[in-house]
Amino acid sequence: MVYLLMRQQVTWHPPKVAAKLSVFARMQRVMYLYSMAYLKFQGEGLFNGREILPANQVLITNEKGIVEDIIADSEAGADVQHVNGILSPGFVNTHCHLELSHMKALLPEKTGLVAFVTGVMQHRNFSQETILEAIAAGEQEMWDNGIVAVGDICNTTHTVAQKSLHRLHYHNFIETSGFIPASANTRFEQAVQTYKAFPAVHSSITPHAPYSVSPALFELINEHSAGKVISVHNQETPDEDALFLDGISSFRQLYSMLGADISFYQPPGCTSIQCWLPKTDKPNQVLLVHNTCTTETDIRFAQQLAAGRQQTLYWTLCPNANLYIENRLPHVDLLVKHQCAITVGTDSLASNWQLSILAELQTLRTHFTEIPLEQLLQWATLNGAQALQLAHTLGSFEKGKQPGVLLLDKRLESVKRLL
Ligand SMILES: [Zn+2]
Repeated sequence: MVYLLMRQQVTWHPPKVAAKLSVFARMQRVMYLYSMAYLKFQGEGLFNGREILPANQVLITNEKGIVEDIIADSEAGADVQHVNGILSPGFVNTHCHLELSHMKALLPEKTGLVAFVTGVMQHRNFSQETILEAIAAGEQEMWDNGIVAVGDICNTTHTVAQKSLHRLHYHNFIETSGFIPASANTRFEQAVQTYKAFPAVHSSITPHAPYSVSPALFELINEHSAGKVISVHNQETPDEDALFLDGISSFRQLYSMLGADISFYQPPGCTSIQCWLPKTDKPNQVLLVHNTCTTETDIRFAQQLAAGRQQTLYWTLCPNANLYIENRLPHVDLLVKHQCAITVGTDSLASNWQLSILAELQTLRTHFTEIPLEQLLQWATLNGAQALQLAHTLGSFEKGKQPGVLLLDKRLESVKRLL
């Protein structure tokens, strides 16, 4: 009987559904031809979030920029906007510190991470007005550069007012740190207070870096992260791995300078990621940011661990900040070889000359010439949207999404925001 029902379904329903869809699709096409309520874009290529479609394809959106369809130009009717360049969904910047925008050009380049972190901590005397003005200017810069969403690290509530204007989408990573285990509860409670100032659905409490977060604090963050996305600065400098492998590291001088006694600390004898990632099993997504010193063994270790607990890892590249701080780049070729889900970030204006995903892609293209353009663009769009849990509306040209529309120069020399 069940078999008969199944046979009935197979032989009867699909043709009926197909016929209905076909009529609906035909009605849609007629609407595109004659209604003024649609925007139509045709470029020299159409990147849909995954691949570059040929130039004869036209993107159809409604007046609000919500994607309706992608159809051949022969069916698109009049009023098509013809543009020179590649059409792309808006960029997603998965790593930024908007609240540090007032520190642009303050710290010297190529001094190494420990000197950089020390510099950031020493420059704290800015007026609230200066900080807020720089935040507004930083957001405007991202808007102008085609960025539609940001994974933003927050140690303060300085960005709350600007974000409440909803010009860009944000996921707020409320950052906490504290290497002294006894301070874990206090530090975590401070982060919870900051977290409460941001929209809970788009925020999560996140560890700063393995060299600045004690196992006790990692545990508190992990418990708070069930089902959420967190972000960790990972393996940004050789000193980080050294702290975990044998303990001989410039971070000891940093803590000494800060007056923190870390004589209790015993190096566990593994690389940074192999020490901290096993402690982070509750979040369903983890952004690993920088990965400048991550080796092939580390990548295999992380992938195996994540696969075993149904966790998705995103490997966030901020190449211009890496060059600014450490003058080195991550092994992008290894990340590609192991099919890592890569995203792109700008880091902050304290460690970068601009907040531009296009500028990051240009640097990646210069140093890793073999990476296809559409792969780079997917890192900057769909992968970023998925990493920030915003792919229901951003990252690709799929019906119902509102991802923004960019026009990119074919050689990635410029970006213009069309919507
Ligand atoms: Zn950062």
